[in-house]
Amino acid sequence: MTQWTIEDTKKLYHIERWGGGYFDINPKGHLSIFPKNTNGVMSVDIMDVIEEIKKQKIALPAIVRFHDILRSQVVRLNETFIEIIKEAHYQGKFIGVFPIKVNQMREVVEEIIEAGVPYHFGLETGSKSELLSALAFNTSKQALTILNGYKDQEYLKLALLGEKLDRKVVVVIEKFTELKELLALSSEMKSMPWIGFRAKLSAKGTGKWSASGGEKAKFGLTAAEIMEGIRLLKKHRMIKYLTLFHFHIGSQITDIRNFKDAITEGARMYTEMVKQGAPLHYFDVGGGLGVDYDGTKTTQDSSVNYTLEDYVENVVYLMKEICDLEKVPHPHLVSESGRMITAYHSCILTEVFDSGKMINTNYNTDEKGGEHRIVSNMREVFDELNNGYAQEGYHDALQLKTECIQAFKLGVLSLEERAVTEILFWKICNKIQCLTKQMDFIPEELKELDSLLAEQYFCNFSIFQSIPDAWAIDQLLPIVPLHRLNKKPEVLCTLADITCDSDGKIDQFIGDSAPWQELPLHHLTPGDPYYIGIFLTGAYQDVMGDMHNLFGSVNEVHIYCDEKDSSCFYIEDFIPGSSAEQNLATMQYNTHSMISTIKKKLNQQVQKGKLRPKESVLLANFYENCFKNYSYLNLNKQENP
Ligand SMILES: *Cc1c(COP(=O)(O)O)cnc(C)c1O
Repeated sequence: MTQWTIEDTKKLYHIERWGGGYFDINPKGHLSIFPKNTNGVMSVDIMDVIEEIKKQKIALPAIVRFHDILRSQVVRLNETFIEIIKEAHYQGKFIGVFPIKVNQMREVVEEIIEAGVPYHFGLETGSKSELLSALAFNTSKQALTILNGYKDQEYLKLALLGEKLDRKVVVVIEKFTELKELLALSSEMKSMPWIGFRAKLSAKGTGKWSASGGEKAKFGLTAAEIMEGIRLLKKHRMIKYLTLFHFHIGSQITDIRNFKDAITEGARMYTEMVKQGAPLHYFDVGGGLGVDYDGTKTTQDSSVNYTLEDYVENVVYLMKEICDLEKVPHPHLVSESGRMITAYHSCILTEVFDSGKMINTNYNTDEKGGEHRIVSNMREVFDELNNGYAQEGYHDALQLKTECIQAFKLGVLSLEERAVTEILFWKICNKIQCLTKQMDFIPEELKELDSLLAEQYFCNFSIFQSIPDAWAIDQLLPIVPLHRLNKKPEVLCTLADITCDSDGKIDQFIGDSAPWQELPLHHLTPGDPYYIGIFLTGAYQDVMGDMHNLFGSVNEVHIYCDEKDSSCFYIEDFIPGSSAEQNLATMQYNTHSMISTIKKKLNQQVQKGKLRPKESVLLANFYENCFKNYSYLNLNKQENP
């Protein structure tokens, strides 16, 4: 047997395949991060981050945001477009926007805007609240502010306010009635924003969000509505404001062919509209640029079968080809990529605090006089197991286990006998699992033993709060231990969170081609913490998380690179997660009245002589203090009051 190396671990967790160049393992066997995507030059040891977090008395679970990753992704998107536009001799420019809904966190939006200044990178909004923030943060005159989503009068008035502030606001008409409302309002307010038309394409995506495109899509104008819209704008002498053509066929488009279809159809619509007299000069391809979460480069839901370069080449070259063919000038290209920009920049760090075999085989199964035939038969199966008698032994054991339950229900077997039989059954499973390790060919049936015998690792976090998509849509996310990566992880595990919900578990992991049902992790050693990270959580997860079981928002640290620092980073900001009191308040509880109820009751107990006054004060203080604390498990041993 050759020695297990760090390279083996990298392959096992497929780090290079999903990491986008940002993640690696350092010689200490710790997960490391290249926040600037500069292979090796600037690397942050994640265990140094854990140390620093501990030093600052910040508890896990925590979200860690690498602002430099966010910046790198903005640069990556823009530079890729610039390069390919140049190479293709495309006449228009790239002018992207960030869709706020993907991560509304102010610091995230601010960072993206700042990194995007050289590129006039703008914002896309889908609601009034998002527009309020875009108006305040996207202050550049050249950058676009693109307004999608349902719009009422107030939304449109906000757009006109943007117009008065000299912003490049484009109201995208998604429903025909919005155009009429906008025309009415603008004649009243004597001002008009730029107008975009969102087309309902027949092309649609594959993957989870395919319903965003196609004829049944929620948004977009049909061909007839587009024609009618152009006629209406001409009639009101407002056609000069129609500058942008838009489509969006869904998020995480897994198959590049769907983009090709959509771009081709969209480009044809664009050129036709121009020929109808629409002075368009922006072609907005929406979002959908996917992230290869599982690194399989396939059309599976958590993957994509193309690279950023493939995507950009398709947009640029297809648009050029069709415009040239139709003799229409090349428009500026707009994209609304949110997932690609934000997914990589944040991760959830947590600690495994306990493990449980589904089955504990520590029970005396020695033969006792007068035991039932079922028990002794089970023991015989165990004793006789060998390579030649593994699969059949498994069948026999399964059969005996069924008989055991039947016999118990009929009052033939005692509880003690049932216990012994069941334990023997699990011992048989364990032994067969060992035997299969030496087999050249493992029968399909015996493979199920791995999941039957998997260990459960309990992690201090809530799936519902931190990675809601893992629960809601079976999103696969990379999960990797943060340390001990120079050692072979030998325990096959599923993960459980600390909610009381049976859905609060993870039993699907990134595998070689198909997902694995178990994740190999290291043995827990008593007294030593074991940390794991869940990666690529920067898109959509933050805002979609909920407060199931009243586990609230988690502690959050923002990390910046600093080449002068020995560990290459510093914590720029710490945003405390919510306390029990804050969680309760959102559900309309009043802390003060709850505390006074408890105090009153404690007083009564004192009066009845059931409690000493001193005890009652301590207990009241204890109850009161709990409100201020973090809602997750406190894994530091503390003294009792
Ligand atoms: C959600 C959304 C986006 C973002 O899509 P990603 O796949 O995250 O890039 C872009 N545009 C519109 C209109 C959207 O609704």
